[in-house]
Amino acid sequence: MSHHLHLRGSVPPLSFRGGLDARFSPGVPWHFASSSSNVGVAAASSARTLRPPQHRAKVMAKEAGEQETAALGWAARDASGVLSPFDFSRRAQKDDDVTIKVLYCGICHTDLYIIKNEWGNAMYPVVPGHEILGVVTDVGSGVTKFKAGETVGVGYFVGSCRSCESCGNGYENYCYGMVLTSNGIDAEHGGAVTQGGFSDVIVVNEDYVVRVPDGLPLDKAAPLLCAGVTVYSPMMRFGLNAPGKHLGVVGLGGLGHVAVKFGKAFGMKVTVISTSPGKREEAIEKLGADDFLVSRDPGQMQAAFGTMDGILDTVSAWHPISPLFALMKPMGQMVFVGGPTKPLELPAVAIVPGGKGIAGNCVGGMRDCQAMLDFAGKHGITAEVEVIKMDYVNTALERLQKNDVRYRFVIDVAGSLGTTA
Ligand SMILES: [Zn+2]
Ligand SMILES: [Zn+2]
Repeated sequence: MSHHLHLRGSVPPLSFRGGLDARFSPGVPWHFASSSSNVGVAAASSARTLRPPQHRAKVMAKEAGEQETAALGWAARDASGVLSPFDFSRRAQKDDDVTIKVLYCGICHTDLYIIKNEWGNAMYPVVPGHEILGVVTDVGSGVTKFKAGETVGVGYFVGSCRSCESCGNGYENYCYGMVLTSNGIDAEHGGAVTQGGFSDVIVVNEDYVVRVPDGLPLDKAAPLLCAGVTVYSPMMRFGLNAPGKHLGVVGLGGLGHVAVKFGKAFGMKVTVISTSPGKREEAIEKLGADDFLVSRDPGQMQAAFGTMDGILDTVSAWHPISPLFALMKPMGQMVFVGGPTKPLELPAVAIVPGGKGIAGNCVGGMRDCQAMLDFAGKHGITAEVEVIKMDYVNTALERLQKNDVRYRFVIDVAGSLGTTA
């Protein structure tokens, strides 16, 4: 279960799989077409494949004054999704760029979808990872927000158009020009395919980097960069952050368990709704939830009828949603952050009589991401994690596929990458 869609800008419709021409088909989001129009996905992909092998510790001089940085990552080469060591290079640091040594990187369900090409848009080799926690090692001459030695984070995207309405409103995550951190197309930098945080170093424009507050354990903080902001952002947007309000959290995975912690820190009553009765004790005693509903138990669901102000549904597997709407008060707000591929069933009667709202959410903008981290720092909110070494990553991905993790894998990149390649 879990996870957020991360669809826009990253998921082509099925027709796209047929080839580049499909980008001109009706139904292809224009931003996807736009992001591939300079280079073309296939062209970018093959160009990358054809690049000569590069050696780490060797700094490449591309053009006068532009030096790329050698990088080592773990990449998937095909739809098997199996990761193995991969030498590549990071773009030359520009005046407004920050160079970051990656310390930790969380593993998100989205990584799994992309490396296995389940969305049909993988541009191999793919270095996954967008829950990046690291330390600044160098900054461009125009950088004002960061300096070397500071602890920073990078999340789901590393660029946006900066001029659209979404960008202007602080929702770069809904910008049609958003550049994904991994498996994205960086139009501003020659249409290069972006490589994520399962690597030793990354170069990012300072506007897409956030500061990590002192005191947060770095390994446990990494998942906040995606899972954290994915639940925090809609809570802010829909006022599900007020003391005394009652929040329902459907699904207790990477996203859900963090949502419980934020809800409690906001002073809300939090009820976890799950198909797994076995998670009750952990939800209440370890994560601090006030109540726990087994969604398959009609008696429990009936008893909670009309009590919630809002619900965050974090489940990625198909599930009945009508009973969830019944849990909400009139005008309650449902927010979906998971992405079942099979359409959900929503009878109008589930929302019309009670005037209920329904929305989706995908990660959050830079402003929300920084505010989320600051809030987490103040309240000591982190994810529950299992820290792994890089050479365990393929096993971890298999376990993630089976939801066999409580609740997030985090790779100790700096502590294990160099020793496994
Ligand atoms: Zn993610
Ligand atoms: Zn924009």
